[in-house]
Amino acid sequence: MVLVVSPHVTIRAIRLFGDPVLRSKADEVREFDKSLRQLVDDMTETMLEAPGQGLAAPQIGVPLRVFTYHVDEIGVGHVINPVLELSTESEVDIEGCLSIPGLTFDVQRPISAKLKGQNAEGEALEIEASELLARVFQHEVDHLDGVLYLQRLTKELRKEAMSQIRQAEWFGMPDTFTAGITSSEPKPKDSSDSVSPKAAELA
Ligand SMILES: [Zn+2]
Repeated sequence: MVLVVSPHVTIRAIRLFGDPVLRSKADEVREFDKSLRQLVDDMTETMLEAPGQGLAAPQIGVPLRVFTYHVDEIGVGHVINPVLELSTESEVDIEGCLSIPGLTFDVQRPISAKLKGQNAEGEALEIEASELLARVFQHEVDHLDGVLYLQRLTKELRKEAMSQIRQAEWFGMPDTFTAGITSSEPKPKDSSDSVSPKAAELA
């Protein structure tokens, strides 16, 4: 399901917890072409519309190492093929995920990070990030490695998260959660589908 907001930009459906694309490692980008710039434009618009502070390409079903971010005071940006260098010092702060809507939990992460990567033109970039921006970078790079923030929670919080997810109204539904837009009919919730083994694995 897509929503065309201008002739050139498309808001894409955000994949939800349970979708296998969220558990797969994304591929390096090798072609810095027009379709990559289109992907970045669509991801930026989809992130702002949601709204979210970051969006990784697998979250719209594209298995490429691309993410966008939007943090107040820093602005909007994107990174292709990101690599992170993390500080040893860490802090706990609250986190959520567009692919796990409605839930937030405390997550411990390194407090700062140096990010290296490229822009959509293929030019090298380097960003020193701390606090929220560093957290967003880590959350998004995790997505590119098929890791959800649930896997970063303490054992107790992960149990709590899984129980909240099972009760969430979107759980077991197909992809779409785009600012209240829903598409196709709900999947029959017979619990024998691929969601349950994943849930068990995380719990
Ligand atoms: Zn996320």
